[in-house]
Amino acid sequence: MLKGKTALVTGSTSGIGLGIAKALAQQGANIVLNGFGEIEGPKSEVAAFGTQVIYHGADMSKPGEIEDMMKFAASQLGRIDVLVNNAGIQHVAPVEAFPPERWDAIIAINLSSAFHTTRLAIPAMREANWGRIVNVASAHGLVASAQKSAYVAAKHGIVGLTKTVALETATTGITCNAICPGWVLTPLVQKQIDDRAAREGIAVEQAQRELLGEKQPSLQFTTPEQLAALTVFLCSPAADNVRGVAWQVDGGWTAQ
Ligand code: NAD
Repeated sequence: MLKGKTALVTGSTSGIGLGIAKALAQQGANIVLNGFGEIEGPKSEVAAFGTQVIYHGADMSKPGEIEDMMKFAASQLGRIDVLVNNAGIQHVAPVEAFPPERWDAIIAINLSSAFHTTRLAIPAMREANWGRIVNVASAHGLVASAQKSAYVAAKHGIVGLTKTVALETATTGITCNAICPGWVLTPLVQKQIDDRAAREGIAVEQAQRELLGEKQPSLQFTTPEQLAALTVFLCSPAADNVRGVAWQVDGGWTAQ
Protein backbone atom coordinates (compact mmCIF):
# COMPACT_ATOMS: atom_id res chain seq x y z
CA MET A 1 0.00 0.00 0.00
CA LEU A 2 2.88 2.42 0.75
CA LYS A 3 5.30 1.19 -1.92
CA GLY A 4 7.64 3.99 -3.01
CA LYS A 5 6.58 6.23 -0.16
CA THR A 6 8.82 7.42 2.68
CA ALA A 7 7.84 7.32 6.34
CA LEU A 8 9.68 9.05 9.16
CA VAL A 9 8.97 7.76 12.67
CA THR A 10 10.49 9.71 15.55
CA GLY A 11 11.59 7.68 18.58
CA SER A 12 11.57 4.47 16.57
CA THR A 13 14.50 2.61 18.15
CA SER A 14 12.18 1.11 20.78
CA GLY A 15 8.62 0.31 21.83
CA ILE A 16 5.66 1.75 19.93
CA GLY A 17 7.73 3.68 17.37
CA LEU A 18 9.68 0.57 16.37
CA GLY A 19 6.41 -1.38 16.02
CA ILE A 20 4.96 1.33 13.78
CA ALA A 21 8.15 1.55 11.67
CA LYS A 22 8.04 -2.22 11.07
CA ALA A 23 4.37 -2.16 10.04
CA LEU A 24 4.93 0.74 7.62
CA ALA A 25 7.95 -1.07 6.11
CA GLN A 26 5.78 -4.17 5.73
CA GLN A 27 3.43 -1.98 3.65
CA GLY A 28 6.37 -1.10 1.38
CA ALA A 29 7.46 2.28 2.77
CA ASN A 30 11.09 3.33 3.00
CA ILE A 31 11.77 4.25 6.60
CA VAL A 32 13.65 6.97 8.44
CA LEU A 33 14.40 5.77 11.96
CA ASN A 34 15.23 8.10 14.84
CA GLY A 35 15.86 7.71 18.55
CA PHE A 36 18.52 6.82 21.09
CA GLY A 37 20.09 3.61 22.35
CA GLU A 38 21.00 0.59 20.27
CA ILE A 39 20.54 1.31 16.54
CA GLU A 40 21.71 -1.72 14.56
CA GLY A 41 19.17 -4.18 16.05
CA PRO A 42 16.11 -2.02 15.33
CA LYS A 43 17.52 -1.09 11.92
CA SER A 44 17.86 -4.71 10.84
CA GLU A 45 14.39 -5.60 12.24
CA VAL A 46 12.88 -2.92 9.99
CA ALA A 47 15.16 -3.68 7.02
CA ALA A 48 13.93 -7.31 7.11
CA PHE A 49 10.85 -6.13 5.21
CA GLY A 50 13.04 -5.30 2.22
CA THR A 51 12.66 -1.53 1.93
CA GLN A 52 15.32 1.13 2.41
CA VAL A 53 16.00 2.07 6.02
CA ILE A 54 18.09 5.03 7.14
CA TYR A 55 18.72 6.46 10.59
CA HIS A 56 19.19 9.97 11.96
CA GLY A 57 19.98 10.51 15.63
CA ALA A 58 18.43 13.97 16.03
CA ASP A 59 17.61 14.88 19.61
CA MET A 60 13.92 15.79 19.47
CA SER A 61 14.42 18.47 22.10
CA LYS A 62 16.63 20.42 19.67
CA PRO A 63 14.92 22.25 16.77
CA GLY A 64 18.23 22.62 14.87
CA GLU A 65 18.82 18.86 14.94
CA ILE A 66 15.21 18.24 13.85
CA GLU A 67 15.81 20.50 10.82
CA ASP A 68 18.99 18.56 10.00
CA MET A 69 17.06 15.27 10.19
CA MET A 70 14.30 16.52 7.88
CA LYS A 71 16.88 17.74 5.32
CA PHE A 72 18.86 14.50 5.58
CA ALA A 73 15.71 12.39 5.07
CA ALA A 74 14.64 14.36 2.00
CA SER A 75 18.14 14.19 0.50
CA GLN A 76 18.37 10.40 0.99
CA LEU A 77 14.84 9.18 0.33
CA GLY A 78 12.90 12.10 -1.12
CA ARG A 79 9.76 13.71 0.24
CA ILE A 80 8.41 12.49 3.59
CA ASP A 81 4.93 11.13 2.82
CA VAL A 82 4.13 9.68 6.24
CA LEU A 83 5.21 11.46 9.41
CA VAL A 84 4.72 9.69 12.73
CA ASN A 85 5.47 11.88 15.74
CA ASN A 86 6.12 9.33 18.44
CA ALA A 87 9.22 10.23 20.48
CA GLY A 88 8.31 10.74 24.10
CA ILE A 89 9.57 10.66 27.67
CA GLN A 90 7.92 10.63 31.08
CA HIS A 91 8.66 12.02 34.53
CA VAL A 92 6.46 11.45 37.56
CA ALA A 93 6.35 13.95 40.44
CA PRO A 94 3.85 16.31 42.09
CA VAL A 95 3.72 19.69 40.39
CA GLU A 96 5.37 21.58 43.27
CA ALA A 97 8.32 19.16 43.17
CA PHE A 98 8.48 18.82 39.38
CA PRO A 99 12.01 19.72 38.21
CA PRO A 100 11.68 22.66 35.77
CA GLU A 101 14.28 21.13 33.42
CA ARG A 102 12.19 17.91 33.23
CA TRP A 103 9.10 20.03 32.41
CA ASP A 104 11.01 21.76 29.60
CA ALA A 105 12.35 18.47 28.22
CA ILE A 106 8.92 16.81 28.19
CA ILE A 107 7.25 19.77 26.48
CA ALA A 108 10.10 19.93 23.93
CA ILE A 109 10.23 16.19 23.12
CA ASN A 110 6.56 15.21 23.50
CA LEU A 111 5.01 18.34 21.95
CA SER A 112 7.25 20.95 20.32
CA SER A 113 9.17 18.38 18.25
CA ALA A 114 5.89 17.50 16.48
CA PHE A 115 5.34 21.18 15.65
CA HIS A 116 8.81 21.33 14.07
CA THR A 117 8.57 18.10 12.06
CA THR A 118 5.05 19.00 10.92
CA ARG A 119 5.88 22.54 9.79
CA LEU A 120 8.89 21.19 7.87
CA ALA A 121 7.05 18.22 6.29
CA ILE A 122 3.87 19.94 5.14
CA PRO A 123 5.19 22.02 2.19
CA ALA A 124 6.29 18.92 0.21
CA MET A 125 3.11 17.07 1.21
CA ARG A 126 1.06 20.01 -0.13
CA GLU A 127 3.00 19.90 -3.40
CA ALA A 128 2.18 16.19 -3.75
CA ASN A 129 -1.36 16.72 -2.41
CA TRP A 130 -0.89 13.62 -0.26
CA GLY A 131 0.43 13.05 3.21
CA ARG A 132 -0.28 11.34 6.48
CA ILE A 133 0.62 12.75 9.88
CA VAL A 134 0.01 10.46 12.85
CA ASN A 135 0.72 11.84 16.30
CA VAL A 136 1.20 9.33 19.09
CA ALA A 137 -0.62 11.10 21.93
CA SER A 138 -2.01 9.11 24.88
CA ALA A 139 -5.07 8.55 27.03
CA HIS A 140 -3.33 11.40 28.86
CA GLY A 141 -4.15 13.58 25.84
CA LEU A 142 -7.80 13.28 26.90
CA VAL A 143 -7.79 12.85 30.68
CA ALA A 144 -5.27 13.54 33.44
CA SER A 145 -3.51 11.55 36.13
CA ALA A 146 -1.90 13.00 39.24
CA GLN A 147 1.89 13.54 39.20
CA LYS A 148 2.13 13.80 35.41
CA SER A 149 1.65 17.54 34.85
CA ALA A 150 4.16 17.96 32.03
CA TYR A 151 3.18 14.75 30.23
CA VAL A 152 -0.56 15.50 30.46
CA ALA A 153 -0.01 19.09 29.32
CA ALA A 154 2.13 17.95 26.37
CA LYS A 155 -0.31 15.20 25.34
CA HIS A 156 -3.35 17.49 25.58
CA GLY A 157 -1.27 19.94 23.53
CA ILE A 158 -0.52 17.43 20.79
CA VAL A 159 -4.22 16.57 20.49
CA GLY A 160 -4.86 20.30 19.98
CA LEU A 161 -2.05 20.55 17.43
CA THR A 162 -3.52 17.52 15.61
CA LYS A 163 -6.94 19.17 15.28
CA THR A 164 -5.46 22.46 14.07
CA VAL A 165 -3.27 20.82 11.42
CA ALA A 166 -6.25 18.68 10.33
CA LEU A 167 -8.30 21.84 9.78
CA GLU A 168 -5.52 23.66 7.93
CA THR A 169 -5.13 20.69 5.53
CA ALA A 170 -8.81 19.68 5.38
CA THR A 171 -9.28 20.39 1.66
CA THR A 172 -6.08 18.58 0.68
CA GLY A 173 -4.93 14.97 0.49
CA ILE A 174 -3.04 15.43 3.76
CA THR A 175 -4.61 14.07 6.93
CA CYS A 176 -3.50 14.57 10.52
CA ASN A 177 -4.74 12.36 13.34
CA ALA A 178 -3.72 11.31 16.84
CA ILE A 179 -3.75 7.90 18.45
CA CYS A 180 -4.25 7.68 22.19
CA PRO A 181 -2.88 4.49 23.75
CA GLY A 182 -3.57 3.40 27.29
CA TRP A 183 -0.86 1.33 29.01
CA VAL A 184 1.55 -0.36 26.59
CA LEU A 185 4.29 -2.55 28.08
CA THR A 186 7.36 -0.69 26.76
CA PRO A 187 10.52 0.51 28.57
CA LEU A 188 8.69 3.80 29.33
CA VAL A 189 6.03 1.95 31.34
CA GLN A 190 8.29 -0.82 32.69
CA LYS A 191 10.16 1.90 34.59
CA GLN A 192 6.90 3.04 36.24
CA ILE A 193 6.07 -0.57 37.17
CA ASP A 194 9.55 -1.15 38.61
CA ASP A 195 9.37 2.14 40.58
CA ARG A 196 5.98 1.14 41.97
CA ALA A 197 7.21 -2.33 42.99
CA ALA A 198 10.21 -0.78 44.77
CA ARG A 199 8.12 1.96 46.44
CA GLU A 200 5.45 -0.43 47.74
CA GLY A 201 7.78 -3.39 48.39
CA ILE A 202 5.71 -5.68 46.16
CA ALA A 203 6.54 -8.06 43.30
CA VAL A 204 6.81 -6.64 39.79
CA GLU A 205 3.86 -8.82 38.65
CA GLN A 206 1.72 -7.40 41.46
CA ALA A 207 2.75 -3.83 40.54
CA GLN A 208 1.79 -4.57 36.92
CA ARG A 209 -1.67 -5.85 37.97
CA GLU A 210 -2.23 -2.78 40.17
CA LEU A 211 -1.17 -0.39 37.40
CA LEU A 212 -3.65 -1.93 34.95
CA GLY A 213 -6.40 -2.26 37.56
CA GLU A 214 -6.23 1.43 38.43
CA LYS A 215 -6.89 2.75 34.91
CA GLN A 216 -7.39 0.15 32.19
CA PRO A 217 -10.68 -1.82 32.53
CA SER A 218 -9.63 -4.50 30.02
CA LEU A 219 -6.77 -5.38 32.41
CA GLN A 220 -4.70 -5.99 29.27
CA PHE A 221 -1.85 -3.97 27.85
CA THR A 222 -2.33 -2.39 24.43
CA THR A 223 0.40 -3.72 22.11
CA PRO A 224 2.71 -1.86 19.71
CA GLU A 225 1.33 -4.15 16.97
CA GLN A 226 -2.24 -2.93 17.61
CA LEU A 227 -1.10 0.69 17.44
CA ALA A 228 0.88 -0.05 14.29
CA ALA A 229 -2.19 -1.60 12.64
CA LEU A 230 -4.21 1.53 13.43
CA THR A 231 -1.45 3.68 11.95
CA VAL A 232 -1.50 1.57 8.77
CA PHE A 233 -5.29 2.05 8.60
CA LEU A 234 -4.86 5.84 8.98
CA CYS A 235 -2.44 5.71 6.02
CA SER A 236 -4.94 3.81 3.85
CA PRO A 237 -7.43 5.24 1.33
CA ALA A 238 -10.25 4.13 3.67
CA ALA A 239 -9.05 6.84 6.07
CA ASP A 240 -8.92 9.65 3.46
CA ASN A 241 -11.62 11.54 5.33
CA VAL A 242 -10.59 10.70 8.89
CA ARG A 243 -9.32 14.08 10.03
CA GLY A 244 -8.41 15.46 13.43
CA VAL A 245 -9.45 12.46 15.52
CA ALA A 246 -7.87 11.43 18.82
CA TRP A 247 -8.46 7.68 18.66
CA GLN A 248 -8.27 5.76 21.92
CA VAL A 249 -6.73 2.28 22.08
CA ASP A 250 -6.90 2.20 25.84
CA GLY A 251 -8.89 -0.84 26.99
CA GLY A 252 -11.73 1.43 28.14
CA TRP A 253 -9.57 3.83 30.23
CA THR A 254 -11.24 7.03 28.95
CA ALA A 255 -14.74 5.50 28.73
CA GLN A 256 -14.99 5.62 32.53
P1 NAD B 1 10.00 3.97 24.69
O1 NAD B 1 10.76 4.54 25.82
O2 NAD B 1 10.02 2.50 24.42
O3 NAD B 1 10.40 4.70 23.32
C1 NAD B 1 10.62 6.07 23.25
C2 NAD B 1 11.42 6.36 22.02
O4 NAD B 1 11.68 7.78 21.98
C3 NAD B 1 12.79 5.67 22.01
O5 NAD B 1 13.12 5.31 20.68
C4 NAD B 1 13.72 6.76 22.51
O6 NAD B 1 15.07 6.59 22.09
C5 NAD B 1 13.08 7.96 21.84
N1 NAD B 1 13.48 9.23 22.45
C6 NAD B 1 13.43 9.60 23.75
N2 NAD B 1 13.91 10.84 23.89
C7 NAD B 1 14.27 11.26 22.65
C8 NAD B 1 14.85 12.45 22.16
N3 NAD B 1 15.17 13.48 22.94
N4 NAD B 1 15.10 12.52 20.82
C9 NAD B 1 14.81 11.47 20.00
N5 NAD B 1 14.26 10.33 20.42
C10 NAD B 1 14.01 10.23 21.73
O7 NAD B 1 8.50 4.48 24.92
P2 NAD B 1 7.11 4.12 24.24
O8 NAD B 1 6.22 3.65 25.32
O9 NAD B 1 7.26 3.31 23.00
O10 NAD B 1 6.62 5.60 23.87
C11 NAD B 1 6.42 6.05 22.54
C12 NAD B 1 5.33 7.12 22.55
O11 NAD B 1 4.12 6.52 22.98
C13 NAD B 1 5.61 8.27 23.50
O12 NAD B 1 5.21 9.49 22.91
C14 NAD B 1 4.72 7.95 24.68
O13 NAD B 1 4.34 9.10 25.39
C15 NAD B 1 3.54 7.32 23.98
N6 NAD B 1 2.68 6.51 24.83
C16 NAD B 1 3.18 5.41 25.48
C17 NAD B 1 2.33 4.69 26.29
C18 NAD B 1 2.80 3.48 27.03
O14 NAD B 1 2.02 2.96 27.86
N7 NAD B 1 3.98 2.95 26.79
C19 NAD B 1 0.99 5.07 26.45
C20 NAD B 1 0.53 6.18 25.77
C21 NAD B 1 1.39 6.90 24.96
